[in-house]
Formats: sequence, structure tokens, C-alpha cells
Amino acid sequence: MTLLERLSSRDLIELEDRHGAQNYHPLDVVLSRGEGVWVWDVEGTRYLDCLSAYSAVNQGHAHPRILRALVEQAGRLPLTSRAFRNDQLGPYYRELCALTGHETVVPMNTGAEAVETALKAARKWAYDVKGVPEDQAGIIACDGNFAGRTISIVSFSSEPLYRAGFGPFTPGFTLVPYGDADALEAAITPTTAAFIVEPIQGEGGVIVPPEGYLRRVRELCTKHDVLLIADEIQTGLGRTGRLFAGDHEDVRPDLVTIGKALSGGFYPVSAVLGSAGVLGVFTPGSHGSTFGGSPLACAVAREALRVLVDEDLVGNAAAMGEHFMARLREVASPHVREIRGRGLLIGVELRPEAGGARRFCEALRARGILAKETHVDTIRFAPPLVITRDEVDWAIERIAPVLAMA
Ligand SMILES: *Cc1c(COP(=O)(O)O)cnc(C)c1O
Repeated sequence: MTLLERLSSRDLIELEDRHGAQNYHPLDVVLSRGEGVWVWDVEGTRYLDCLSAYSAVNQGHAHPRILRALVEQAGRLPLTSRAFRNDQLGPYYRELCALTGHETVVPMNTGAEAVETALKAARKWAYDVKGVPEDQAGIIACDGNFAGRTISIVSFSSEPLYRAGFGPFTPGFTLVPYGDADALEAAITPTTAAFIVEPIQGEGGVIVPPEGYLRRVRELCTKHDVLLIADEIQTGLGRTGRLFAGDHEDVRPDLVTIGKALSGGFYPVSAVLGSAGVLGVFTPGSHGSTFGGSPLACAVAREALRVLVDEDLVGNAAAMGEHFMARLREVASPHVREIRGRGLLIGVELRPEAGGARRFCEALRARGILAKETHVDTIRFAPPLVITRDEVDWAIERIAPVLAMA
């Protein structure tokens, strides 16, 4: 097969299905190009991307500045491993800490690795600092959470689909209802190391907790000497109209996981942010990653963060999110049960009688909007944060008839 061979969408889908493991159920749209909020399939049809690769392309597809940083660094020095130092890592740390107000960074690649890293730090902190007896450290998480796909992470998932067939599971996790601070307090024991929580549950169906929940959680964690880990991999870096979703309640977690938009979608880059007092538990050899902190990852992340600031994407997410949500609320639909979200992380939950969100996503696709169902009954609208008011209005004109269909 040559690069010049032109394959149709149908051919490409057939190839994927013949040779690939079937661990996804994608919409059958085969994309070959993207720019800003727009993507094109191999037949040249244009779509407005309302998923943004689960919020990894907050800066828009193929952002020219991030592309330039990637190409320049790739041509100079892509990877050193952490066995040696590189000239991008220090400046990246400095810029990331200045932007977020955190003191220490652990660089990783995927979101799941950042979560694993935070959990390892919390356990080690429990033994070294809190004085929990060996192998007793507990982690509390929430029903409906999503934090990735490793065995330890699915060990604290409440979603049967994510767990079935993958046991035996990692011990040491307890689940409490999301949004219920009293349940958290009741679950804390003297051996609890940490509570891990998404400020808004993205994969769980865009679930926004009650006002004041995160503030209460912060108070409880402080009171009981438990680390608060905020998983901001999806909600962070501007998505909800603040740099971090925890900022809406002025909550400062002990550890924050970020990923996805940290690279603007070009490359897997993730990190754990925290204080030296907690992340200082890692000593040489106790944790690592071949690609984490590579010069390429650092150069891409530095530019992706600068774009976020220079283009005020956080402010735009707040303004466009408000507009998008207000326009959605004007749509007359017999199917909509609830519209919720923050900034440009918006969920439209349909009534059970609507027959599931999937057919609505198929209908949206036919009208030029790519969105994905989450948790059967909810359509997520999360376009790149570069979206304009006209583009939001363009989207609403197409969403309205779909939500009104029989
Ligand atoms: C996507 C996501 C992850 C996992 O990130 P991967 O890069 O897919 O491993 C973890 N936590 C949250 C909240 C996410 O949305």
C-alpha cells in the first residue's frame, strides 16, 4: 500500500475493523484534517468538533504555534530520557509552576500515568509523613469516577464495563457517593492517605457536584490529615472557564493531575502538580518514565500553555460556555431532562424514553456536528476553547432540530 493510495471512509473502516481490537464504538466518520474547531473527513465533509478529543484539543486542532514548537524541537532533540538533563525541562517546570501556583511537578505522559503517580505519591506520603503502618494506606474515590484504564485505576471504578474480566484488583480503595461530603467524612479512617475526586465528573456524564462540595471536601481533608487529589485531566486548563475547575470554589488541592490539553492534542503529556512536602517523597529510582519530561513533551507543553494564556482561552471558555448553555436552554425539546455543566463542558441529559443519546449523536453528525454520548443518556458538548460566538450559533442551529426530532 502506498501513501498515494486513496482509500474511502468505507475502506478505512473495514481495515480498522479487520485488524484492530474492538475496544471502541466510534461514530463511523473517518477524519483526515483539522483546523481550529473544524475537522474534515476523507471525503472532504466538514464538521464542528464538539468533543475536542475528550478536551485534549482545547487550543483547537493543529494549532500553528504548537505545531511549530513540535517541529522545531523534533528536529533538534526529541528524547534524552531522564538519565540525562535537557534544556527544556527546567523552563517548563518554571512556567508550569508560575501559571498554576504549584511548587513541584512530576512529568508523565498519559492521564492514567499521572493518576497512578499521584496515588503512589499519596501512599508513600502516608507512610513517610503521616505515619500510617506499612501496607495500610487507603485511598477514597467516588462512585461514577473516571481516572483511566490501568488495573489499579479500574480497581476503584464503579463502572462494571470498565472492570469485568480484569480482576484480581488492587486493594486499598473505598468508594463514596459523589457530591456527598458527609459520606466522605464517615469513610475517613486513621489510615486514609488521600481522597481523589474530579471537580466535575466528565466521563461520568458531566456531573456537577452541589455548590460548596469541594470547599467542604477541602476542609475535611485538612481536618483529618488526608491529601486531596483533584483529577483535572479533563476539567483543567481552561475547559470550565477557570484555569482549574477547583478554582470556582477557591479550592487548592494537595495534588492535581493534568494531561489532555497540556499538549494541545499533539502528543501525550501529563503531570502531577503539588507541594515539595508531598511530591518530595519520591527519591531517585522510586518512580519514573522513559518519555516523561522529554524535551519534545516539554517544548510542546510550554507552547500549549502559552497559547492558553495569550489567546485568553480560559476567558473565552467562560463567555462562550455561558452563551452555548443559554442558547441550549432556549431549544424546545421533548427529550431533554437536564442541561448542566460549566464553561465549555456541557452535558445534555435526555429522558430515558428518548431511546439513548447515540441516535442523537448520529443525527448531529449528519448535520455537521461531532458529539459523543456519555453514559448512554447524555450528549456532551465540549468544543475547542477557541470557538467563536458565530460558531456557537452555527452549532445551535443544527442541534435544535436534532433535539426536537421524534
Ligand atoms: C481522560 C481522563 C483520564 C485518563 O487520561 P488518559 O490520557 O486517557 O490515560 C483520567 N482522568 C480523567 C478525569 C480523564 O478525563
